[in-house]
Amino acid sequence: MKLHHHIYIVIIIVFQVTCIFSQQPENTRNLSKYATNQIVDDAVYQNLHPHQTVQVIQSQNKKVKNVILIIGDGMGLSHISSAWVANKGKLNLDNFQVVGLSRTYSHNRLITDSGAAGTAIATGQKTNNYVVGVDTLGNPLTTIMDYAAKAGKKTGISVVCRLNDATPAAFIAHQTDRDLAEEIVSQYPASKIDFIAGGGMKYWKNRSDKKDMVEVMKQKGYDFAVNESELFSIDKLPALAILADLELPVASIRGNLFRNMNQKAIELLNAENKNGFFLMIEGSCIDDWSHANKIDKVVEEILDLDRTIGDVLQWAEKDGETLVIVTADHETGGLTLLDGDIKTGTVKVNFANQSHSNVLVPVFAFGPGAENFAGIYENAELGQKIRNFITDKHQ
Ligand code: MG
Ligand code: ZN
Repeated sequence: MKLHHHIYIVIIIVFQVTCIFSQQPENTRNLSKYATNQIVDDAVYQNLHPHQTVQVIQSQNKKVKNVILIIGDGMGLSHISSAWVANKGKLNLDNFQVVGLSRTYSHNRLITDSGAAGTAIATGQKTNNYVVGVDTLGNPLTTIMDYAAKAGKKTGISVVCRLNDATPAAFIAHQTDRDLAEEIVSQYPASKIDFIAGGGMKYWKNRSDKKDMVEVMKQKGYDFAVNESELFSIDKLPALAILADLELPVASIRGNLFRNMNQKAIELLNAENKNGFFLMIEGSCIDDWSHANKIDKVVEEILDLDRTIGDVLQWAEKDGETLVIVTADHETGGLTLLDGDIKTGTVKVNFANQSHSNVLVPVFAFGPGAENFAGIYENAELGQKIRNFITDKHQ
């Protein structure tokens, strides 16, 4: 073989290897670290610890002062149905009498990721997969957090995942790549969010750029907590709680941590409540465990979110001026509920994949203004509907 033949062969090999890496199917990038590449059929799970649910009554004809948006990442209708059976036929979600359906596709993909979906909800505008808080050209978008602050409202986010993860990032940051973890964290100080709680300390301290973002926030006046008891002792805003190096512990071992974070968020935001507040709560890891096809952990994460939903509803009922929305950014896992037993809290399910799907996701609304959320609409329209209550367009 002549030398130029060898060169051709090398070029062909390099070209083919490059193609393999550049031709990833569109959904592989956001596969969670929990994914196993073994799609699970006929998984059975029994919930041995069903929780009590509350009953609340929707208040009528009041103004919307506060909005609490609760996102179950990856939480489709099969997820909710499975959780309902596992909890022996009752959920706090059952209280919601107004239900809508949200179309989740992104600007450039039929199957969205959490970056594009979160951005649609946070900004009222669809964008491309894998970006957060920017439009299809990469320009920063105004988020609902910005509108809330402009309306004189306090703002908060409380999540199970890393604070730089795609869903919270869509509400506070503007990046063309959701994986720019340190860059996303660097945008927290400018976001001026009043209450911030979640995980991901790894990207706040010991960073590659040597910046200590916790110190930066403290200098901006934030009270800082690194664990639950420190968070409880905080009595004013702004407050920052980073409670884990990455995600918070899984639902089965974190006890009431997530509920307590959300209660604390409401308590602090409401204490300085002249103009109301906007709070985004995310049950983040429903998605991760759906990627992994682990139905036990999926259901336990949803049931923990449902416990928080019970707390929120009881508070909102008493308050009377709070609109509560529960939704998902997309479905994950192509989950199907095949069989089960309400009496024993047992479910049998199939997963169709370890990625996201395109099915419509539910939107549950409670409180004043809830009736505006009935119907079928785009995820971006959901964002616009919520924003209208922040900017007083409905009132
Ligand atoms: Mg998320
Ligand atoms: Zn996902």
